[in-house]
Amino acid sequence: MMMRKTCTALLLAAVLPAAHAAFPDHPITLIVPFPAGGPTDIVGRVAAAKAGEILGQQIVVENRTGASGTIGMVATARAKPDGYTVGLATVSTHGTAPHLFPNLAYDPVKDFTPISNLVTSPNILSVNPKFPAQTLADFVAHVRANPNKDGYANAGAGGVNDLGMIWFLQIIGGKMNSISYRGSAPALTDTVGGVVPVIFDNFPSSLPYLKSKHLHALAITGTERNPRLPDVPTFAEQGYKDYDVTAWYGVVGPAGMPADVRDKLAQAFAQAVRDPATAAKMEETGAFPLGNTPAEFAEQIRSERDRWKTVIDRAQIKLQ
Ligand code: GLU
Repeated sequence: MMMRKTCTALLLAAVLPAAHAAFPDHPITLIVPFPAGGPTDIVGRVAAAKAGEILGQQIVVENRTGASGTIGMVATARAKPDGYTVGLATVSTHGTAPHLFPNLAYDPVKDFTPISNLVTSPNILSVNPKFPAQTLADFVAHVRANPNKDGYANAGAGGVNDLGMIWFLQIIGGKMNSISYRGSAPALTDTVGGVVPVIFDNFPSSLPYLKSKHLHALAITGTERNPRLPDVPTFAEQGYKDYDVTAWYGVVGPAGMPADVRDKLAQAFAQAVRDPATAAKMEETGAFPLGNTPAEFAEQIRSERDRWKTVIDRAQIKLQ
């Protein structure tokens, strides 16, 4: 009896690691929960190309968009936890939306295997160049004097760009209409086109329009100015010291992934974003490469979820 048990254990030990040691033996899918041309897509494609090279298998990006990124994350949570389907979580899908979508089909902590948080990015408040206010001080005065007159474009109701703006409006005692899109790319198109005059967006997607002067920046989040646009002042230096909103993009799998598969993916993605050429591409977009460990990312998801709960509760934010 003892002998048979030992034999079975030995057999399993011989077979199981061998099965995972082959990982990955076919292409991996990375679900990007926002549309092409947005920051999640930009970061996802750059990281996937390099991580795929490191793993010796292609990582195919699949855009599954809608509901502030939560549709793609439901698909990620429900995938087979074998490492061949992972998703790119963001502060919206795992930090803000879970507190505001009462029927959300996942728990941001319990239903995922954190792999590696790839990149962080500031957020930026910009206006169409024809908007009457072209500085933050004028913007605040204009909004206070004209409640509910103007709209602000954002990448999804209940996502970080919507909530970040709602929070700022609470601070200044102003009211604007939230105009939500499936992601940054369509929100930017309408702001540049003059359909909506204001946008609060993750920095990488806004940067090209700011450089080409199709948009004019009023303030950027974070403690320091961004080297890509050093003329744009921070919110903090313009008097809003407690106001900070950071975006991030990290790879997660469904709950229950084997640890060796998770670690192999984590190492590949971390190595990818730290690779000098890939890191330079990320930095060109104004984002900051990170590439942390599964344990570090797990802790970050928990603290981001709790941080946004505090912001939402304190400001009594509810979706309209
Ligand atoms: N603002 C979204 C987020 O940080 C990303 C929008 C997009 O990629 O289009 O969750």
